[in-house]
Amino acid sequence: MSAIKSLCVFCGSSAGKQPAMADMAYKLGANLAAHGIKLIYGGGNVGLMGKVAQGVMDNGGHVTGVIPEHLLKMEVGHTGLSELVVVDSMHSRKARMFELADAFAVLPGGLGTLDETFEILTWKQLGLHGKPVVLVDGFGFWDPLLVLIASMIDGGFVAPRHRDLFTVAQSVEEVIPLAMASTTPSAVNRADLF
Ligand code: AMP
Repeated sequence: MSAIKSLCVFCGSSAGKQPAMADMAYKLGANLAAHGIKLIYGGGNVGLMGKVAQGVMDNGGHVTGVIPEHLLKMEVGHTGLSELVVVDSMHSRKARMFELADAFAVLPGGLGTLDETFEILTWKQLGLHGKPVVLVDGFGFWDPLLVLIASMIDGGFVAPRHRDLFTVAQSVEEVIPLAMASTTPSAVNRADLF
């Protein structure tokens, strides 16, 4: 069991079409607050991002938002956070969120969510870190992605053992237990990759 003190959530800057997704994001935030786990996220007050942050803040938790200066207006920086870190670029934002987080959870989102998730997964694939990554598959949102990854494994482009780079939660309640139960893989060398 690893001690998780902070969890970074990647999710949509949009709320999507199903209100249940926003509820899921808010509930994840509330769960983090209840467990005393700090939220690290992109700092916006929009979409599912805003909901997860609100879930933490409404329940007395701690939120650190990390947002690039140029996005402060576009994503409407959340003004009610415990801490808002303003960085100079998207790259700095991802690096800062990575440094601050003990683990990652991924809620439904769009291209930015995929970018953030796969950067973390590919760093882990290369043995640069061993932090838990939990995909929250509420309402089957990530099922097509799981099918694609299975197909990449079948096609010989992803090593079968790299399916274990992340775990899949079927509900928000499973996120913290799954993150805590994840084991840290040892460093890999090139020969281990395939
Ligand atoms: P989205 O899933 O597209 O709604 O975006 C979710 C988050 O990812 C937002 O905070 C975006 O600012 C961020 N994002 C969007 N595009 C990128 C990118 N190319 N690199 C890093 N983050 C991004």
